[in-house]
Amino acid sequence: MKKLLNLLAVVAVLCLSACNGATFVSPSEQSVNFTIDGGEKGVMVSSDGSWSVGSSPDWVKTDVKDSILLIKTERNETGSPRQGDIVLKGKNVEATIHVAQASKCTHITVSSSKVEFDKDGGTETLTVDTDGLPQVEASDGFTASYDNGKLTVTAAANDGGAKRGEIKLTCEDQSTTIYASQKGNVCKKCGGTGKITCPTCRGKGLYDIDAGGGSAYCERCGGFDPPTSELWESGRKGTGRIKCPDCGGTGVGN
Ligand SMILES: [Zn+2]
Ligand SMILES: [Zn+2]
Repeated sequence: MKKLLNLLAVVAVLCLSACNGATFVSPSEQSVNFTIDGGEKGVMVSSDGSWSVGSSPDWVKTDVKDSILLIKTERNETGSPRQGDIVLKGKNVEATIHVAQASKCTHITVSSSKVEFDKDGGTETLTVDTDGLPQVEASDGFTASYDNGKLTVTAAANDGGAKRGEIKLTCEDQSTTIYASQKGNVCKKCGGTGKITCPTCRGKGLYDIDAGGGSAYCERCGGFDPPTSELWESGRKGTGRIKCPDCGGTGVGN
């Protein structure tokens, strides 16, 4: 009887971990990257019960604090990049977190030097060839991240005018820049140029003032008309273009 009680006790203890085993285990990151120096990163793990670290690469240390999985790596002295998977186990479910660590960065090459977005925005993915872990910086209006050989660039819907920016990837002394652009709302009156044909001179820069063939330089579009005809030579023809009144010269529409 005592033996049976012991057995029940063991079953009860096992039950605490196994019987409440999670039926879903969902890490906040599917992959975690470390530079050559290593360090510690935390990944939030959502679950409906208990889970544990089933396996992890031998160069990775893990620790669980509440629902956070701490992942630690030392400096990578192997001379080459390394990667592997951490497998989290619930009751009958598993989740994988890919871990990669750089050794040294000698090159970064991106599949395109530019990304273009429509006004509605969206996400573009470029392929990155590198042996390091590039840090990514994006200009305002764009967001970018690097993971596992892919650069993902996102632009939100653009309610303003056309945008331009840069995405810069840097690792150690290597760097490369991608130019990002996004279409915006264009002023219908000027087609986005910010200028329209001068209505006074109809774009000619001068206009007729009498039937005898006399003409005046158009001041509305930047010309200078001398006060007397003797000073005609000091005059200047107008450009024939004026600032668009609808957009105030910005080219941006509604
Ligand atoms: Zn004019
Ligand atoms: Zn305009």
